[in-house]
Amino acid sequence: MEMNVTGRRVLVLDGTDHAVPIVAGLLRDGADVTVHAATACAALEDLAQRGRLGLTNDPVDETTFDLVIRSVPRPRPQPAAATTGTGRVTLVGAGPGDAGLVTVAGRAAIETADVVVADRLAPWESLAWAPPGVQVIDVSKIPFGRSTSQEDINRLLVEHAKAGRHVVRLKGGDSYVFGRGFEEVQACTAAGVPVTVVPGVTSSVAAPELAGIPVTHRGLAQGFTVISGHIPPGHPDSTLDYAALARSGTTLVVLMGVRTLPAITEALMDGGLSPDTPCALVGDASLTSQRVIRSTLARIATDAAAIGLGAPAVAVIGDVTALEP
Ligand code: SAH
Repeated sequence: MEMNVTGRRVLVLDGTDHAVPIVAGLLRDGADVTVHAATACAALEDLAQRGRLGLTNDPVDETTFDLVIRSVPRPRPQPAAATTGTGRVTLVGAGPGDAGLVTVAGRAAIETADVVVADRLAPWESLAWAPPGVQVIDVSKIPFGRSTSQEDINRLLVEHAKAGRHVVRLKGGDSYVFGRGFEEVQACTAAGVPVTVVPGVTSSVAAPELAGIPVTHRGLAQGFTVISGHIPPGHPDSTLDYAALARSGTTLVVLMGVRTLPAITEALMDGGLSPDTPCALVGDASLTSQRVIRSTLARIATDAAAIGLGAPAVAVIGDVTALEP
């Protein structure tokens, strides 16, 4: 059944993983979605937290909705290994969050998936392209929150592929930029599972860009350096030379660095980078909840905390952040 749901109030009475592709399709088509369920899967909770849908367990008046979806398709019976041979894994770098930034090749992979193994930062709405009855597995790795270990993820990919399925590993940004994508490739290869990789739009370039900041600009920055801030400077596991970064003359792009921003900015100033260096922090890039603040190296951490700009966010440090279009 085809119907235009744009602007319609839709109630979905299912909070499980199975509802995610349906809900994603409704959101993509501009519906005003409410999910009524005693418990909701992580993907739906994330969408609710981002203000993309309403999530409630309180009694709802069904008559106030234009459409009520009572049940969603369950995963279709999976092909057995004996009949289909070895399956395969496609790692899809799915961009910073807006489904519009998934590549054409990424979409083609999703359209032929039997199983989608997705991260929190992957664009859930792209699941609307998956075939009906696709199995969605959420393996979100939220800092300090629920998590599936990398070993478990590797095992999931291999097991489903060995059972003859096309497994799409849907990852935020590009799979090889702090995404542990290559470990997954190695795990598949070690298990004899064919694996291909679809490059993605990385947030390290897209987040600044969506905030109006070019990571390079003639006369201002002849390069950019992308670092992970998840281990703070001075930590025994940190391998970054902050004094060298301070002197690099390149735009600095920090991922996973909101919590450690005070220590990172301090280390860069200790390394000689001017406290007045223009900076920006871009949160939820490409989503309707995108927020941007501009500040200076000395003040950015305090300013971000003051307005509660949290992860996921990309910090950009350098003169390019002060450019006007
Ligand atoms: N592979 C991803 C990065 C994974 S590390 C990529 O190429 O983009 C996760 C970090 O990416 C987050 O902590 C944040 O710094 C950044 N990030 C991912 N999506 C983002 C978004 N929509 N807005 C801002 N930062 C984002």
